[in-house]
Amino acid sequence: MVDHNEKLLQELLKKPGNNVCADCGSEDPDWASYNLGIFICMRCASIHRGMGAHISKVKHLELDRWEDSQVQRMKEVGNIAAKNKYEERVPPCYRRPTKNDPQVLIEQWIRAKYQREEFCHPERQNYLSGSMEGFLMKRGKEDSRYQLRKFVLNENEDTLKYHVKENKEPKGVLKLSELNVSFAPAKIGHMNSMQLTFLKDGSTRHIYVYHDDPEVINGWYTSIRCAKLHLLQVAFPSTPQSDLILRLPKDFAREGWLWKTGPRPSDVHRRRWFTLDNRKLMYHDEPLDAYPKGEIFIGHESSGYHIKVSNTGNGCKEARFPFHLITPERTFCLAATTHEDRAGWLAVIQQTLKRPLTPQESTIEATLVRKRTTSNSISIFSGR
Ligand SMILES: [Zn+2]
Repeated sequence: MVDHNEKLLQELLKKPGNNVCADCGSEDPDWASYNLGIFICMRCASIHRGMGAHISKVKHLELDRWEDSQVQRMKEVGNIAAKNKYEERVPPCYRRPTKNDPQVLIEQWIRAKYQREEFCHPERQNYLSGSMEGFLMKRGKEDSRYQLRKFVLNENEDTLKYHVKENKEPKGVLKLSELNVSFAPAKIGHMNSMQLTFLKDGSTRHIYVYHDDPEVINGWYTSIRCAKLHLLQVAFPSTPQSDLILRLPKDFAREGWLWKTGPRPSDVHRRRWFTLDNRKLMYHDEPLDAYPKGEIFIGHESSGYHIKVSNTGNGCKEARFPFHLITPERTFCLAATTHEDRAGWLAVIQQTLKRPLTPQESTIEATLVRKRTTSNSISIFSGR
């Protein structure tokens, strides 16, 4: 009878919706939650198991033994019916994770769906109001210690503020409309951490925060996205919501060490931590620096931006795989240590060069063109 049930499960897997993980969308799921009636991948299965068997009962499709009634349950529900139930009221600002997304995002998505049933009960979604207050651990600007800071989100003011002393003036005021927030757990060294990147006096600043409770950090992340979506809806009332959602914060396209040298053959190579944030390629001395050393705006390929692969390095042993990023301002000579790393950078930069500019990005581009025509000095978008 085991073989019969295994065969039935394989048949069910072919049905539309069941061929991808119910939670992260990765292909060919080989696990299932037999009380919820969904097919899931191994990574999501371990999150389901972590919630406890009173919420989700997990089995492998081939390695575990299946009862007839359990297979029947899988047949009755399936991924599409479960999605209709558990994702009925997912707010548009909510980031639906995909397979390579950070653990905190996938885990909180699964817990929100089945444990807290937030998307069946919208009154449980406490991140939609445009305001939020609470404490996060924040990394110091000059030292690497994390300290408890009070954060206050206020959509009406277009601000996210943080306070050193609760009743005193805020230490920092971040403009929400110019704020990007991304998960960077490996770099920060904490699973439930976020990097806040914003403009301060015309240049970029980074803040690193974490909270021990993953639900709290996910709540902040979603609240910021929600507030930003509302601000975009006010600023661009005729733009479809689906387009505005594409402008909400994304994780960095790529981060890592590259070698950078000046334009002269005698210039030495320096190792820098590079971060590609939408169209902004930043470089830093260290991964957790508060300020980038330089920022390069990557415009559209039709405006004079392109990359060129070079096959010969200029003698630096580790900068073995060079490439040039050419902008109307100058040529940046960069190099990766491995062929694969260079290929990775070339791919994400190439995608950026081909992507049309959003209205905000066009504004930055126009500012650069104005600078180019009115003065020889280049300030914020050039590097030291
Ligand atoms: Zn999955």
